[in-house]
Amino acid sequence: MEETLDALVVGKWAKAWLQKENLLPSSWGLPIEEAKRIQAANIRITMLFAPASVLELTPNPLAKLESALLVMFDGNSVGAGKLSRDECIAMLLHEIGHHLNKPTPQCKEYPSMSPEWFAGQMEYKAQRMIEHEADDYARHCGFGDAIASGLDKLRRIEPMTFGGKDIESRIQRISGNSPLRLNLLYGS
Ligand SMILES: [Zn+2]
Repeated sequence: MEETLDALVVGKWAKAWLQKENLLPSSWGLPIEEAKRIQAANIRITMLFAPASVLELTPNPLAKLESALLVMFDGNSVGAGKLSRDECIAMLLHEIGHHLNKPTPQCKEYPSMSPEWFAGQMEYKAQRMIEHEADDYARHCGFGDAIASGLDKLRRIEPMTFGGKDIESRIQRISGNSPLRLNLLYGS
């Protein structure tokens, strides 16, 4: 399983970068069921070289899959000494969580078919909840504190990008230890 978890990483430069930073997925300390869940979801991870990059896949590890989700990270944001190792892992698990932890349609705070929803008033709140649920996957994997401290660092380093109320609300929600909202795909 260790080796196959590293097979989530697509592209030799992404692999080399993660290895250099001691961030290969096999070293994240995830329980086996999370490793299996991520693989079952056909999620793969690769690196975006800013401002843009092309990725040639030879051999193509996605060839046998009908579809796949690619989590792309930018070494200038995730790495570059800005974030700790746990904070880097937490950011990647947040992105993975966007797919694995689907918003709960029955959630009372998120009345997706309500008149307010159609009026567009709930849209901002809904977007926030999507971020919270992605955070909750990282928290479920044991990286909640790392998400909060990572976001706190990013908003100080890049206030233009991360200085908004939504980031503030994510930090507060995690720091306040609010209950996890989990609706996980692929097993319990
Ligand atoms: Zn997100």
